[in-house]
Amino acid sequence: MSWAEHLGLRMAQAQQQSLLRSHTRLATPQRVDTQINGHSVLNFSSNDYLGWASDEFTIQALKRGADRYGVGSGASHWVVGHSGAHDDLETAVADWLGVEAVALFCTGYLANLGVISALADADTLIHQDRLNHASLLQAGTLAGQSRRFGHADVDQLRRRLARGHDRRQWVVSDGVFSMDGDVAPVQAYVDAAGAAGALCLIDDAHGLGVLGDQGRGSTHGCNPDLIMGTLGKALGCGGAFIAGAGWLVDAIRQFSKPYTYTTAMSPALAYAAAENIRRLRTQPHHQAKLRSNIDYFRAQAIARGVDLMTSDSAIQPWLLGSNERALAASERLKSAGLWVSAIRPPTVPAGTARLRIALSAAHTQSQLDQLCDGLVTCIPG
Ligand code: PMP
Repeated sequence: MSWAEHLGLRMAQAQQQSLLRSHTRLATPQRVDTQINGHSVLNFSSNDYLGWASDEFTIQALKRGADRYGVGSGASHWVVGHSGAHDDLETAVADWLGVEAVALFCTGYLANLGVISALADADTLIHQDRLNHASLLQAGTLAGQSRRFGHADVDQLRRRLARGHDRRQWVVSDGVFSMDGDVAPVQAYVDAAGAAGALCLIDDAHGLGVLGDQGRGSTHGCNPDLIMGTLGKALGCGGAFIAGAGWLVDAIRQFSKPYTYTTAMSPALAYAAAENIRRLRTQPHHQAKLRSNIDYFRAQAIARGVDLMTSDSAIQPWLLGSNERALAASERLKSAGLWVSAIRPPTVPAGTARLRIALSAAHTQSQLDQLCDGLVTCIPG
């Protein structure tokens, strides 16, 4: 079969299963109040949890960063791409999270690939929560010996760690699960890993800025060996970091190809991200507003009969089951001016398609009321 026939067949199959994706062209994709094709919509699909991706503070910080350091880094970290802005961001993250060392990556996806491939070898056994983000799962697959344990099943994890006692082991999990919104049993994972002499890596892409004192996330107080954080979600910028003990981060820097062979993140963006970390630490009302929006939305939606999944984070999914049902609900909401993404396999397991409602500190109560009104019209049956 030729390439064209082969790919044509795959596309047709995906189309049949309602699995083809299309780009959404919101006028300002991160703003809560935006337009599509000239029509107003309220956006409940962005990971811009604090509403910082396009606010004045971040824009001004980016401009100052560009004035001071330029836009492009011009080279990889080990060549000449690592500037004072990168140093400052590393220090800001280390102070914030109380860790010894931090290394920067261009995206969270690349950080997960870069960290796991840097440390894992043929002797390493990687235990992954089965609902981990695609980047962790793919990194595990590329590394070889990666196994998924039951979601949040600490007993199963302990049994597997005991069985693998003669190997170098690694426990890897999302801190907040990106499509479910629930928080991992981080302390139990850290303890289980520690007792077995394993490393523990928590990807806190959706916890940082949202949970914990000063937005320190789901790992605050738990001290995993490594924390992966993204700067493109609550922090409103882009890029990512790995944080942990100096001996670990040094090894990652030395052995990670996605660290070594990529142009370093934009120094202007690094500067803006550091400014937003300082803002997060000194202006707690942003995080508090997000918290009150989460509590308000859950109370209102549940009171109106919307069967939300259990979640304490800014990700509030509503499980609808079939792809068709999730797509139909998303379309109905769209026609009411409410933008909520339908999430389908392979992003989530087959039969668990859902609406993924993402909340922001920038939403007003009346916008949350409008969302609840729309959701009620989608209640099955
Ligand atoms: N980890 C998790 C849990 C995520 O949800 C995402 C992005 N959706 C990533 C990593 C990748 O981060 P980035 O978007 O910075 O590549």
